[in-house]
Amino acid sequence: MWRSLAAVLFQQPCPCCGRLSRQPLCPSCERRLRTWELRDRRSYWRGSVPLLPWGSYRQDLKRAIATLKYHAHPELGTLFGEWLAVAWLESQVSHNLPLQVVPIPLHADKLKARGFNQAEIIAASFCRALELPLVPHALVRQRATQSMFQLTVAERVANLEQAFVLGRGLRKQCWVLLCDDIYTTGTTARAAAETLRAAGHRVLGIVTVAVALPEPH
Ligand SMILES: [Zn+2]
Repeated sequence: MWRSLAAVLFQQPCPCCGRLSRQPLCPSCERRLRTWELRDRRSYWRGSVPLLPWGSYRQDLKRAIATLKYHAHPELGTLFGEWLAVAWLESQVSHNLPLQVVPIPLHADKLKARGFNQAEIIAASFCRALELPLVPHALVRQRATQSMFQLTVAERVANLEQAFVLGRGLRKQCWVLLCDDIYTTGTTARAAAETLRAAGHRVLGIVTVAVALPEPH
């Protein structure tokens, strides 16, 4: 009886399907999410702000990221940060450079409404797993950006041009690794990197849970 009671007590509803599970995600949802894990993620590691994504922004993974952000399940961000840390270790793109991790910030109004910044939760978990320093206030989002969905690429660029200002806590001797939940056009990553580089910091690239771009050939 005690065993079954303990089993019930230590189970939580899976954030994706609601079934009781002892893990942050039930085994069936974890299996489904892992089908969107990218095999050839190193091919994104190129250009002015190289990208290392965990998975492809489709179906189950897309829904799980929405659950994390809009249905207040930050524990999913912790899990994604751990998966991203494994991907980072396996990819071996950093060549043992000294790193500091900077999450892409939300604007203060959005942060207040949501209660947490998903990028910071992912980055914190990534840093815990890899024993890297997290610099959560290195960038500050300067003004609310319009929802990017309806904008053209040119409008997105203009919208983000002055999106970030330098915050505090960065060390000049370490390379910056940016962290976000989703990578779409790369405009956000480039704007963040530009702000940091203009202040004399070295930016290595960005890690994200998902990438919405088609796979490179
Ligand atoms: Zn589930």
